[in-house]
Amino acid sequence: MWSNTRPGSEVAGMLRWSMPAGRVVGVRIYAHWSLLATLVLIAGLMSTSVLPTEFGGRSAIEYWTVGTVAAVLFLLSIAAHEVAHSIVAIHDGVPVERITLWLLGGMSELRGEPADPRSELRIALAGPLASLAIGISAVILAFGVHDLVDPVVTASLAWLGTANMILAVFNLLPGAPLDGGRVLHAALWRRSGDRLTAAAGAARSGRIIGFGLIVLGAVQVVLVGSISGLWLMLLGWFLRNAASVELMGASMRHRMGELTVHDVMSTPAVVVHADQDVTTFVSDVLPTLHHRTFPAVDRWNRPVGVLSLRDISRASPEERRGKLGALARRLPDPARVHPGDRLADVTAKAVLRPGRDLLVVVDGEQVTGVITATDLVRVCERTALGLPGRRPPTASS
Ligand SMILES: [Zn+2]
Repeated sequence: MWSNTRPGSEVAGMLRWSMPAGRVVGVRIYAHWSLLATLVLIAGLMSTSVLPTEFGGRSAIEYWTVGTVAAVLFLLSIAAHEVAHSIVAIHDGVPVERITLWLLGGMSELRGEPADPRSELRIALAGPLASLAIGISAVILAFGVHDLVDPVVTASLAWLGTANMILAVFNLLPGAPLDGGRVLHAALWRRSGDRLTAAAGAARSGRIIGFGLIVLGAVQVVLVGSISGLWLMLLGWFLRNAASVELMGASMRHRMGELTVHDVMSTPAVVVHADQDVTTFVSDVLPTLHHRTFPAVDRWNRPVGVLSLRDISRASPEERRGKLGALARRLPDPARVHPGDRLADVTAKAVLRPGRDLLVVVDGEQVTGVITATDLVRVCERTALGLPGRRPPTASS
C-alpha cells in the first residue's frame, strides 16, 4: 500500500506516534506503537490455536516461542513488501519519504507521483510480487525441510507462506489506496490520458471495497460469531476513509484545473517582521489587520516562518516579551511556492489548516504573496458555480 505525502493528512497524523526502526535502501522505516498489538495477536493466534490443534502435547513456552518467531518473520515480510515498492519508486525517480509499519500492515509515503502509467504499474506491482515470492519460497522451504526439522517449524513456515500469498492477493483488490487500486489507476490513466479522472475512479472503487469489507466483517461477527470479523471491519473502515480523502483531493485538484499560484494569491502579502517586539505588534499593528495568519520575514523581506494569531495567544508571558520571530513556526518546504507553480501541484503537497497555515509565494528571494485555506475553498466554490477560479482584482478574504 502506498500514499502520497501530505503532511498533516489523516494517514500521516494517525501514524505520528511511531519510532524509527532502521533504514533500508536509504528509506527510513518507522514502527507505530500499534504494531505491538499485531505482534501479540499473531503470536497469540499461532501459539494458542494454530500450533496446539495440529501438534498437541507441547509446552506453552514452546508454542509461544515458535509463534513469536513466526509473527516477527511475518512483520519482516510486510516490511520487505514495502521496501520493494520503495526500490522501484526510487529507481523511477520518485523519492520515498518513509515506510511505516502499523496495526493494519505497511504504508509507504511517496514524495511525488509516478511520471506515467507504466511507472505507476511497476511501483504498484513490486509489493505484491515480493509478497508472492516470499510466500512461494516459504512454502517450498516447508516442503524441503519437512523430514529434517520439527513438524512445528514446518507448519509455521507453511503458515508464513500462506499468509504472504493472502497478503499479495488482498493488496491486489482494485481500490485505492491498495496496490490493486494503483494498478486500476494506471490502467484508467493510460486509457483516458486523464490522471485526475483516473484518481477519482480508483478512489471510488476503494470506498466500495472498504464498505464491502465492513459488511463482510459484520456478517462474520454476527452470523459466525468470529471475533476476527472485527479486524476486517477495522480494515474496511480505514480503507474507506483513506479512499474518501483521496477522492476529495482528486476532485479539488480537478477543479483547480490549470490555475497557477499567481492566479489566486493575495498580493501584496501582509507580512510581520521577525525582529519586531510581540507587545508592540499586538498593541499597535494587529488592531489594523484582519488576517489571522502571516508570513514572518527578515529585514530583506525573505520568509523565515509562519505566524498565526493562535501562536501568539498561546505564547508564554516570557515569550510575549520577546520578538515575533521566536514565535514563528518553521515554513515547511512544500509551503514555499513560486508564482508560476500549478495550484493543483502545490496543494497536493501542502496541507493548509484554516487560520494556522499558508502558502508563501516567493519570487526570487522575496515574499510577493500568500495563499490561505480560504483562498482554496473560494477557488473550489467559484468553479463549482461555473465562475473562473481566478481571484477577482478587488477581492479580499
Ligand atoms: Zn503494497
